[in-house]
Amino acid sequence: MILPVKTHSRTEMIDITDDVHAALREAGVRDGFCMVFVPHTTAAVTINENADPTVKDDMLKVINKIVPWDDGYRHLEGNSAAHIKSTLVGASELVAVAGGKLQLGTWQGLFFCEFDGPRRRKVHLHFI
Ligand code: ZN
Repeated sequence: MILPVKTHSRTEMIDITDDVHAALREAGVRDGFCMVFVPHTTAAVTINENADPTVKDDMLKVINKIVPWDDGYRHLEGNSAAHIKSTLVGASELVAVAGGKLQLGTWQGLFFCEFDGPRRRKVHLHFI
């Protein structure tokens, strides 16, 4: 199943937890695993707190500080920072599913991470 994601900024974290739950319902998945895979080289997926929105703001602040947009990179497309962030954060997450619910902790949510937006993106969901 493919989840479309529209991003609005160069760097952005979008909570996709509810969308993944909706996909699980639509696919009739009750128990197993859900692999969330991002088929892009300048985006990523991660799990972190989705209760307080300032957590993702702080994470983006630090990620952008660690990997500045301009730093004498060699890649001619000009988006090396986005490629580096994509690899640091990672392209997939595997989450257990029980009773049709992602087995995330109380404060956890799934975030699509945009590092070279705005763009139209895809998230692949594989149910096992
Ligand atoms: Zn590139």
